[in-house]
Amino acid sequence: MQVLVINCGSSSVKYQLIKLPSCEKVLLGKIEIDPADNTAHETAIRALIEETQQHQIDAIGHRVVHGGNEFSEPVTVTDAVIDSIEKHSADAPLHNPFNLLGIQLAQHQWPQIPHIAVFDTAFHAGMPKRASSYAINPAVADQHRVRRFGFHGTSHQYVAQLAADHLKTPVDELRTVTLHLGNGASACAVEYGRSVETSMGMTPLEGLVMGTRSGDIDAGAVLSLLRSGAYQVSELDELLNRQSGLAGLSGIGNDLREIETSAEQGDESAQLAINVFAHRARKYIGAYAAIMGGLDAIVFTGGIGENSATMRRRIAQRLEFLGVRLSDDLNRNARPATDQPVVEISEPHSRVRVLAVRTDEGLMIARQTARIAAAENQRNSPRTIPIAVSARHLHLTAETFAKLFGPEATPTKYKDISQPGQYACEEKVNLIGPRNRIDGVRLLGPLRRVDQIEIARTDEFRLGIDAPIRDSGKVEGSAPITLEGPYGTVELTEGLICARRHIHMHPDDAKDFSVQDREIVEVAITGGPRDLAFGDVLVRVNENYKLEMHIDTDEGNAAELTRGSAGELMVDTVESACAVLKKSRG
Ligand code: ADP
Repeated sequence: MQVLVINCGSSSVKYQLIKLPSCEKVLLGKIEIDPADNTAHETAIRALIEETQQHQIDAIGHRVVHGGNEFSEPVTVTDAVIDSIEKHSADAPLHNPFNLLGIQLAQHQWPQIPHIAVFDTAFHAGMPKRASSYAINPAVADQHRVRRFGFHGTSHQYVAQLAADHLKTPVDELRTVTLHLGNGASACAVEYGRSVETSMGMTPLEGLVMGTRSGDIDAGAVLSLLRSGAYQVSELDELLNRQSGLAGLSGIGNDLREIETSAEQGDESAQLAINVFAHRARKYIGAYAAIMGGLDAIVFTGGIGENSATMRRRIAQRLEFLGVRLSDDLNRNARPATDQPVVEISEPHSRVRVLAVRTDEGLMIARQTARIAAAENQRNSPRTIPIAVSARHLHLTAETFAKLFGPEATPTKYKDISQPGQYACEEKVNLIGPRNRIDGVRLLGPLRRVDQIEIARTDEFRLGIDAPIRDSGKVEGSAPITLEGPYGTVELTEGLICARRHIHMHPDDAKDFSVQDREIVEVAITGGPRDLAFGDVLVRVNENYKLEMHIDTDEGNAAELTRGSAGELMVDTVESACAVLKKSRG
């Protein structure tokens, strides 16, 4: 599938056409906007349409800067979403009106394609109140929406995930400080996968030193400048947003490369700019480590974070007390790139791992767009899987069967069951546990190489035995059980399990659902009295299988399943999103 990502800003319209799941960039473009021309955005979108006309587009992802605290996830653009984006325009006058214009023009051009809004603020929407509140009168804050929202969320979330993948640790087990250092710059405390604090606030002006923005400044200084009469509001806006930061301090401009060159030649303003920039970033790392109660990783990203080894060095100095040990060699040579987006730059024994990561907001937007578009599609035409609730049953070896039913006996077919070649038998066995017994448990045929008795958790309580959750066939070290048949009794040392829920799939089904053998998926039960999502569902693919999910009676009861129930395979990866959208195209 191909996703068009549109970033319609005030001064440029950037777009990318991205093929998924390969992540190949089919098209990349940027159209500058002439601020004097008020039809410039329309012209730019028309140029974009021209450029993409020959290409397949399955979904369109729109970058939207400000979604307030309303959107914690990307959403399909609807009239209500448009109203909300409009409402937040007052908070982000340089961004949202243009983002919205881009959405409306694109919707007009491509009315049949799903449009998804991806918000810079979404990742921070769940920030705790103590982090999102300014210490002012709450009534005033509410009335004027004076609170901290945070930005760059797409990038922070993306690099935190890449870092976790690199560290082979789930993101929800890591406390990471991500530093997005570009022209705009912000830090984020990503505690166990969630943004709990970030340096940009109500607007993207707060926090770190940026290319032309001041970052943190005493509100008293702002009042003082206004009171002095030397500055009107618009001039102050210009000063703090466009004439400050690296550019303001250095007097050179916002390009760190030039500032670094001048600093080397002894330019004191350039040196001060670099020092203030690094000092502030270091200050935030320390603060965020304190907020998260510890630190596992630091991630540098953005133009400066990815490219300036000297700035990374400066920022990471004096952090040894936190367990941060940067490797000068690794740092000097680190150049994260598309083919190798994560480069580790800490010493091997550094307790806190330090990484330079190449961010790619366009790709992240494309992936989120695919996921949301597929989920929407799924709601309209779900990918259903029939569900069979397995009552307790057993599989036996010929040897055990003979001991229970006599040397001359053979299993007698009672009826076929859904999986080809398998059948329920007339024979039944009694299970005897230390606490109680369960009589009349049906045998399934044909006979197997190992004894396997599958019961539900409730049965365990009755028998007084703890059985492990196991994949079928993996009975080694499982629980012991005594079996009683009409001919004799057998004490098995192992074989009693609680079967792991799983889906049988023919290879054609696996292809259809775009999943692999042994993949772990999620299946949702909806539309009943007790909707439930089952995680940890194992996919088992075999030529001899027929599509069906197997759960035990406890699981079936928990979801109040009836005969003939079905579940929906949930869209949780880009691959599955692509499969859903591909299928919907036919
Ligand atoms: P934006 O926020 O506009 O996307 P970028 O992420 O591209 O900005 O970052 C731009 C910043 O990265 C500029 O300050 C630029 O000087 C800096 N930068 C890019 N390459 C290097 C480099 N090799 N050394 C130092 N700074 C660099």
